[in-house]
Amino acid sequence: MQLQFKFRPICNKSSMEWGSAAHLNVKIRRSSLRLRSKKQLIQIAPRALEGTTRSYGRIDLRVQSCKYKYRGCKVKLEEEEIKAHEKECRYRWFKCEGRKFAAWNCSFKGYREDVMNHFRRIHPERTYMKVQNIIDMSMTFGRDSYDIELIQKRKQLFWFKHRLLSKEKIAYWLCQYVGPQDEALTYCYDFVISDEVRKFAVTELCYTDALDADEIYESGKCVVMTFDQIKSFMTGARNIHVYFRIKKNVKARR
Ligand SMILES: [Zn+2]
Ligand SMILES: [Zn+2]
Repeated sequence: MQLQFKFRPICNKSSMEWGSAAHLNVKIRRSSLRLRSKKQLIQIAPRALEGTTRSYGRIDLRVQSCKYKYRGCKVKLEEEEIKAHEKECRYRWFKCEGRKFAAWNCSFKGYREDVMNHFRRIHPERTYMKVQNIIDMSMTFGRDSYDIELIQKRKQLFWFKHRLLSKEKIAYWLCQYVGPQDEALTYCYDFVISDEVRKFAVTELCYTDALDADEIYESGKCVVMTFDQIKSFMTGARNIHVYFRIKKNVKARR
C-alpha cells in the first residue's frame, strides 16, 4: 500500500488502474522526462503543440486554433471552448462601443489597436478620464441617460459606463476591460460616492467588453444605486462627488 502512494501518478486517475501496464508506462515516461535536460524539454514542447489532439487519459479531443491566428492569436482549444474564446479574443473585430452601448450612429469597425485612435478622432470628449478620477457628476432623473468613456492604463483599455434608468429609478456604473475575460478579472475598480461625512463605496471586478453592460447590471455585478440613495448624496446643483479608480486585482490567479 505504501508503495502505491509513493508512485501516485499526477494524470487522470479514472483512466488508470493501479499496477496496470498503463500505470507503469506513466512511471517510465515520467522518469525518462526527469533525465532530459531543460534544453531538450523546451525543444520537445512545440512539437507536442503541433498535433490536433489533446489527450485526457484514453480520450483524445480535437483542438482548434483561434480563427484570429492570422493576426497572432496562439490560443488552441476544443471546438466548444474556441467559439467562446473567439467572442472575447483580443485580436477580434471591434465595433464602435458607443453604437453597442448607446445606439450611436457610428459605423466604425476595427482592431483593438484602432479603438483608442477612433475615439480620440471621432468621440474625443469620451477620452478624458484617467485611471484615477475625481468627478463632480451632474444627475438628471427625468429621463434615461448614459455616459461612456474610454480609459487607457498603459497598454490596456477600459470602458467606464454609466446608465440611468428613469423608469426603474436606478443608476448603474461599471468598468469593462477591452479583451478576454481571464485578463479582465485581473482588474477591479473602486467606486466611491461621498459627502462630507457619509460614504457609499464599492469595489467590483472588471468584466470583458464582450459582455453586454446591461447583462452585467442584471447579474448584479456592478455598482447600482437607487435614485433616493443618489439624492441623499447630492450637493449644490444636483451634483454627486464620485471617486473612480481602476486597479490590479491582487487576488486574481492567472
Ligand atoms: Zn484568439
Ligand atoms: Zn464611434
